[in-house]
Amino acid sequence: MTRLEPIESLHAADGRPRALVIGAGLGGLAAAMRLGAKGYAVTVIDKLDVPGGRGSAIWQEGHRFDLGPTIVTVPQLYEELWAACGRDFHQDVKLKSLDPFYEIRWPDGTKFVAQHDTDKMRAEVAKIEPRDVAGFDRFLRDSEERYWFGFEDLGRRPMHKLWDLIKVLPRFAWLRADRSVYAHAKRRFRNDKLRMAFSFHPLFIGGDPCHVTSMYILVSYLEKQFGVHYAMGGIAGMARKMADIVEGQGGAFLMNTQVSDIVVRNGRACGVKLEGGLELSADVVVSNADAGHTYDTLMQRAPKRRWTPTRLKRTRYSMSLFVWYFGTKGTRGKWADVGHHTILNGPRYTELLNDIFMKGKLAEDFSLYVHRPSVTDPSVAPDGDDTFYVLSPVPHLGHEGVDWAEETARYKARVLKVLEEQTMPGLGEHIVTEQVFTPDTFRDRYLSPRGAGFSIEPRILQSAWFRPHNISEEAEGLYLVGAGTHPGAGVPGVISTAEVLGQLVPDAETVR
Ligand SMILES: Cc1cc2nc3c(=O)[nH]c(=O)nc-3n(C[C@H](O)[C@H](O)[C@H](O)COP(=O)(O)OP(=O)(O)OC[C@H]3O[C@@H](n4cnc5c(N)ncnc54)[C@H](O)[C@@H]3O)c2cc1C
Repeated sequence: MTRLEPIESLHAADGRPRALVIGAGLGGLAAAMRLGAKGYAVTVIDKLDVPGGRGSAIWQEGHRFDLGPTIVTVPQLYEELWAACGRDFHQDVKLKSLDPFYEIRWPDGTKFVAQHDTDKMRAEVAKIEPRDVAGFDRFLRDSEERYWFGFEDLGRRPMHKLWDLIKVLPRFAWLRADRSVYAHAKRRFRNDKLRMAFSFHPLFIGGDPCHVTSMYILVSYLEKQFGVHYAMGGIAGMARKMADIVEGQGGAFLMNTQVSDIVVRNGRACGVKLEGGLELSADVVVSNADAGHTYDTLMQRAPKRRWTPTRLKRTRYSMSLFVWYFGTKGTRGKWADVGHHTILNGPRYTELLNDIFMKGKLAEDFSLYVHRPSVTDPSVAPDGDDTFYVLSPVPHLGHEGVDWAEETARYKARVLKVLEEQTMPGLGEHIVTEQVFTPDTFRDRYLSPRGAGFSIEPRILQSAWFRPHNISEEAEGLYLVGAGTHPGAGVPGVISTAEVLGQLVPDAETVR
């Protein structure tokens, strides 16, 4: 997507009001699509060379490493986004439903297979603890209730007015949103393994299950009702299609270009300054950069009422990640019981979470998520080979103590040992290409404050009205989308931030 035309000509006025989007993450791309559909001439700027942000991919020796999201849920969100642009999502992206969804394993050999059919799920629960089947049925009902309120209602509309929050407080209280996901699971399941199996989901959006609001148990209903899918060609392929739509609307991309400042004059965001000094003007500025980076760095010079450096310092960030991407030779069909998504628990659960989120300590043990897309999508690896990534949640860089330049080789060796012992004997001999992302990579590649994997943690007092608003509190004409804003991280979350943006930005014809 690197363009050779001069920047000014890409951003040339064509009679339409101009919108600038900082960041081509999935939230930024969805925002650009919405703005294009509203009649704006959109320019998207990103420091990376490809669109997708955390949802981008890199190719290495015939292996495609999808760097981040692997699971697609709630396909109707994408169908609606595409429809808003006059397009058919399924023409552009082929989704493959996975069933079983994923497998969870423990060191003693116990397995739990999450799948679509509710009776089969009951059987999985009964296999571990027959007395927990009734609790599972109740948990599913709890989950559905929270889905309709938390996802379909609150998650898809603006929450920047305090009154909007006050109006829903009784409902929050009734649903005991003050309880954590883990506390809720603990009330419904006697067995510790089942408590883990029904409470770990917030980790996919950077939340500590022991502190994230129990509203997030809605994920169980969402999986059951809408399925777990894989986008053939990876999420990076989907991001590419989103970029094509933006270009089809007359939008432009400035890749390999970093924004240094949001230009604010008389309290109004009127453009951006690029590294190197060039200034681009706009009627509307949307930041898909991390909300913390937006206010701390890009708006360093502008006076702030709410998102001051002191407040941002107090803000709790999600955990970070150690992600090891590797390609293996001649292994297709080998390790046959390792499917597309596997979670390997270590010996501890809540104690490990406490180490990662509260103590900020890199523990000796870990829980791993293993992604093996080559069992579903042959395009990720050469014939007969496999592509994997293995992910371990680790403390973010705001805690002191880990020097990742020193630690990486040691940590990777420990991960390899566990993988070889528990699932893939001889793995090390088959690895032919690899890449490791540590918290340092998250800080440097995506400009994530503290190297966090998922921006601001979704605790109750950092959610909805408490989260950075989609319409900025600090400057007129400035809007925010992406993981650090309402409703939050995860692909459905950031797609929804753009849906909310679409409700807040005026239609282009009313602007000039
Ligand atoms: C390993 C991993 C696995 C995940 N798995 C899942 C999953 O299975 N399902 C799911 O739903 N979610 C998953 N997620 C979460 C999901 O990927 C993210 O929440 C989501 O993609 C974040 O999108 P975003 O729009 O907020 O921005 P980002 O992807 O963070 O993109 C922001 C973009 O802004 C650019 N940028 C920042 N600052 C500047 C600047 N100053 N100038 C120019 N450009 C700038 C960055 O380069 C980046 O491209 C996963 C995340 C990770 C890391």
